Amino acid sequence: MADKVLKCKDCGAEFVFTENEQAFYKEKGFENEPQRCAACRKAKKALRNGGGGSYGGNRQR
Ligand SMILES: [Zn+2]
Repeated sequence: MADKVLKCKDCGAEFVFTENEQAFYKEKGFENEPQRCAACRKAKKALRNGGGGSYGGNRQR
């Protein structure tokens, strides 16, 4: 396996889908590759946390 360069769906930036992340995805059974770069994912997450109220459980830092 090797690192993969993907293009962000939101901002069009290229980002690296690393070997580790690929392994993680596989382990989790995710079939899709990430669609967004880290920045956009973060932004989206922040949006969700801000708007949707908090649901407890697996919050990670
Ligand atoms: Zn992006």
